[in-house]
Amino acid sequence: MGEFDLIERYFAKPAGSSALVRLGIGDDCALLAPRAGHELAISTDMLVAGRHFFPDVDPSALGWKALAVNLSDLAAMGATPHAFTLALALPEVVPAWLEAFSQGLFACASQFGCTLIGGDTTRGPLNICITIFGEVPAGTAVRRAGARAGDDIWVSGSPGVAALGLRVRSGELQAAGLDVASLFGALDRPQPRVATGVALRGLASAMIDVSDGLLADLGHVLVASGGLGAVVDVDALPMHASLRAQPAALALQCILAGGDDYELCCCAPPTVRDRLSAAVAASGVTLTRIGITTAQGGITLIDRHGAPLQGIDAVRFKGYDHFD
Ligand code: ADP
Ligand code: MG
Repeated sequence: MGEFDLIERYFAKPAGSSALVRLGIGDDCALLAPRAGHELAISTDMLVAGRHFFPDVDPSALGWKALAVNLSDLAAMGATPHAFTLALALPEVVPAWLEAFSQGLFACASQFGCTLIGGDTTRGPLNICITIFGEVPAGTAVRRAGARAGDDIWVSGSPGVAALGLRVRSGELQAAGLDVASLFGALDRPQPRVATGVALRGLASAMIDVSDGLLADLGHVLVASGGLGAVVDVDALPMHASLRAQPAALALQCILAGGDDYELCCCAPPTVRDRLSAAVAASGVTLTRIGITTAQGGITLIDRHGAPLQGIDAVRFKGYDHFD
């Protein structure tokens, strides 16, 4: 099978109905027509075999996740997805693999209403790079830099579940007694919080998606917002049933530093608490208030009585750095 047959067979699907896409796959460029009064939101994520996923991972899950992690970046700005490109390096053409990969990819694309508009295909070590194009009303994107001291800190869903799933898959943790389906679901088919991100527009002062660990990503917001700090109440953290069954130190490690969550972490002034809860409830995702930002830098972990946690080494909660 040649390169063009491959594209035709697995990737040139009928276009979705985005208002922005004027021309999709087949020419030298795709054409997008941004709407008046809006801005394009653009993000790229690369997934490399052996780095971001096991080479023998289920290709359908891989297709889903490659797009989902990009959608999560749009969600974190409050943007609506429209289109994406796919740059794919493949060691060889394995039809069953491509079929499953494409099925997972397009399942995610159709759930979140975005269209594959182009890409590039080449032989090489397995590598998947997606660039996504979304839209926000001009000036309304929620950036990392807008938090103020005294803002509430919120997190969506149940961070830490994917990290627990990874420990099971790598054999570090016994699967017996665990809800493996939901652990692997979180790891393989994360649900980007697109509707929640849009609902938070105009309410959140700053936002980020949690890909490298909750504390590390919260740290990025605090730094971007001028060197704020935070006090996080560990007893307020949302805890999935599978994590509650684990030793407290492991559960905390997964929730605070697990990574691969694709939840949203945002800040917002306490004055919008009720509006924020109502807006997010309509998106069908829980949002939990876990702490407060402070003028003084650094992150302090406290328990429900307000006492700083003893024996917790903040370095353990550092996020993943590819070049560290
Ligand atoms: P070029 O020579 O300009 O790089 P290609 O021959 O690589 O163009 O690609 C032909 C068409 O197929 C282009 O419209 C390109 O965007 C599209 N395309 C190539 N690879 C992919 C892919 N993996 N997914 C979607 N579209 C692709
Ligand atoms: Mg090309």
